[in-house]
This record gives sequence, C-alpha cells and structure tokens, in this order.
Amino acid sequence: MEFKELNLIQPLLDAVESAGYRTPTPIQTATIPLVLAGRDVLGCAQTGTGKTAAFALPILQRLAGTEGSGRCGAGKIRALIVTPTRELAIQIGDSFDVYGSGLPLKNSVVYGGVRQAAQVEKLKAGVDILVATPGRLNDLIDQGFIKLDDLRIFVLDEADRMLDMGFINDIRRILRHIPGSRQTLFFSATMPPDVEKLAMSILRDPLTVKVDPVTSTVESIRQVLYYVDKVNKSKLLATLISGHDVRSALVFTRTKHGADKVARDLTRANIKAMAIHGNKSQNARQAALTSFMRGEITALVATDIAARGLDISELSHVFNYDIPEDPETYIHRIGRTGRAGLSGDAVSFCCFDEFERLFAVEKLIGYRIPTAESPYPMEVCTYSPEPARKSGQSSGRHPSRGRRPQGGENRRQAPASPNTRKDRRPDTDPGTQKSSAAASPPQPKQPAGGGSSSTEPPQGGAPRRRRRYGSR
Ligand code: AMP
Repeated sequence: MEFKELNLIQPLLDAVESAGYRTPTPIQTATIPLVLAGRDVLGCAQTGTGKTAAFALPILQRLAGTEGSGRCGAGKIRALIVTPTRELAIQIGDSFDVYGSGLPLKNSVVYGGVRQAAQVEKLKAGVDILVATPGRLNDLIDQGFIKLDDLRIFVLDEADRMLDMGFINDIRRILRHIPGSRQTLFFSATMPPDVEKLAMSILRDPLTVKVDPVTSTVESIRQVLYYVDKVNKSKLLATLISGHDVRSALVFTRTKHGADKVARDLTRANIKAMAIHGNKSQNARQAALTSFMRGEITALVATDIAARGLDISELSHVFNYDIPEDPETYIHRIGRTGRAGLSGDAVSFCCFDEFERLFAVEKLIGYRIPTAESPYPMEVCTYSPEPARKSGQSSGRHPSRGRRPQGGENRRQAPASPNTRKDRRPDTDPGTQKSSAAASPPQPKQPAGGGSSSTEPPQGGAPRRRRRYGSR
C-alpha cells in the first residue's frame, strides 16, 4: 500500500514524502479512508504506531476544502484534538505543522502550566485546528476565548490515559460545548470497560480500527532483563550506556526523586543526562527534551507521566530503571523505541522488591523477558530452578523471586524515614494515580527435569552462564 492509494491530496503526499514516510502504517491504512469518508472511528492503537498521522492527514484534507467540505468557517475552530499531556499536545501540534505545511490551514496548541497570553493571541488571530489539554481548554472556553460552535471534527486522543488522569469531568464539560453533528475520532491504547463506555456515549455508528493489542509488545524491540540490587542500578545503567555505545537512552523511573537521582548519578559517571518529571517547570521539561532530541545529552530520565507522548525519533534504548507498577505501562514505555519499523532495545532492571511487578508484566505480555547477567550480580536472593518456558523464548533465569533472600530479611532495605518517604512517592502527576495492577503473580513452574546448570545453587548470587547484554 502506498500513500497515494489512500486518495490523499498532493500537498499531503508531498508532506509525508518530506517527512520520510515511504508507506502508511497499518493504523493509517485502516483509518485514513474512514475519516475521509466522514465516519466516526474507534481506534485501538498503542503508541508509536503512526496514530497521529492517521487522524491528522485526513482531518487536514477534509478541512482544506476537498471532499466537499469547502473553506467555509476558515479561521474558526473546525477540528479539536484533546490529548492528556502538554508534551503530547505540543507534538501533535508539530505534526500538524509538518503535514499541513502545504495547506492554508492554521493550527494552534493550548496547554496548562504556562501563561495563557501567547495562546490567546494565536486564538484571536484565527485557528482552524486546535490541539488542547483538557484543563486549559475548559479555562479558555470559560473565559470566552474559545468557541466550538463551528466544530466539525472532534478527536479524543489517549482516552485511557485521560480517564486514568481523572479528566472524565473535563471531557464531559468539553462535550457540552461541541455540536452534536460532528465527526468523532476516539483513540485509546487500551479499552477497559470505562473507556469503552465513554467511547460508546460519544461515537455515532463508529467503525473500529484495532492494531497491536496492548498485550503485544512491538516485535522489533529487543527486550532484556537484568536482576540487580537496588544499590547497584545506577552503576549498571552507567556501565551499559557507556559500554554499549548507547546513542539515546530514555530512562524510566517510578518517582520524581528517583529521576533526579539517576540523572545526577549518570552525570557523575560522565554521561550527559537530564531529568523530566511533574515537579519541573514546563520550560525546564521542554529544554531537557530539546537537548535530548538534538543529541546534546545521551540520557533523558523521566517518570511515566512526564514521558507520556514524547515522540523522539530514532530513540535507540529504553531503560526501565524501575519495573512499573502498572504492567501495561511496561508496554507503553518500551514502545518509545522500535518506532515506525525501526529496531530498538528495551532494558529492564529488576531488584528484589520488584519481582511481583515483573511477574505482572510477564503475565501481561505472555512470556518471560530474556535475562542477561549483570556485571553487578544480585546478592539479596538465591536462584531457583529454571521455570519452564514457552518454546521459542530465551532461557534466562529468574532468581527465587523473594522467597529466600540471602543474608536474611535484614538485607532488604530499611524502611524510609518519614522525611525521605515523602520524596520517594511515585510521580504524583495525575497520570500515575492509577492503583497498582497488583496482579497476583503466577507461581513459577517447577523445572521439567534436573541436571542443567540452571538447577545448580548460586555462586555468590551470580548466574554462571554469561549472556552479556548486546551479545545476542
Ligand atoms: P505516533 O504513533 O503518531 O506517535 O508516530 C510514531 C512515529 O512514527 C513518529 O515519529 C512519526 O513521525 C512516525 N511515523 C508516522 N507515520 C509513519 C510512516 N508512515 N512511516 C514512517 N514513520 C512514520
């Protein structure tokens, strides 16, 4: 399939060509004709699938005057894209700039965390396509700076995240301001019942487009897991980044405090790194992101909420410095690499306290993540016999997963003092407020037979077979 077979107009074909896209991605192939035909769409697609172009290209085409929509209403908001985070809003706005460069349409972005004056100025100058986060959008509607009476196309992006972040009331408020006779495009990486209910309440006779169900991880991503004690994680990270010629690493931590600390540790190890999280100002976040995109720093350390929506092309590595509390987050995180057909590496660190979270991730993706031996072997627990693996999976071994820590329970870290505990909470941006997935971990299966090296007792906690990261 080629873009020109999708009946896109020449300025859009030129734009995708200059963006370097050769062929449409599956979500684009499926969605573009439906949107051009004026249908409502329920799109179930995970990040990195090319979803933005899947809605942006046909929206531009419809507003540009083909398909009989005419230029009437130019300068009035005729397409609205609501998305959960500032970063995502900015990136969608940038995509509209790129795809719409040959068309006489104006787009603008409004989001919170910055003064509104510049955004209001642009709105006053006339906008055809508005990308917005829910809070700022409602503020500007309330102040009379945004009118949605002429809206023709409404896009709700990352709807699952939107609900996780508690935006349901904001969405209901927005819906009260938009005309009933509109085209609605609804995108979500996952489709839990509350999201499906919202979708059904706002879509009219929708067609469903589904690519990459959330339980699948992108095939082009090489995944590897290191068992490593918490105290050694930053050393392991620095060793891997410098020792494997990592060009661009997005490092995920669970907490804001953790993100700052990891960035500091990397900097001390002479690796250029910056942190982004909910406590950083919008300007600081944008500056860090820009430095990362320009290759001025090697590692961007981020909490999940801060990283949501970041579109960093050619990101070579994702590091899960901490295993996420919500297993679906693992898929979102590693989906930051291996985008649009490129390969990528996703490296996860698992310490003693994280076995249950790792279990939940592996249960969700349906297989064990291949392990590599850490240059800083885990010392807090012993190895158990290797559980049976599905055929085709690598034979990495799991430690005993919390049943038998060497050196007694007091090897586990002491509880944080009340002062430090406050700083070590997960990023309290709303996006991380969802409760832990708390899956009860599956019990490891007993080995099919004895005698393999994997049944041998550990030597100082280190696995014997050396499977070095990067040697696959
Ligand atoms: P998205 O899922 O919209 O965040 O897009 C993920 C990445 O894929 C972005 O960097 C896009 O620029 C890129 N992309 C989108 N469509 C295509 C395509 N057809 N071919 C190659 N790259 C694409």
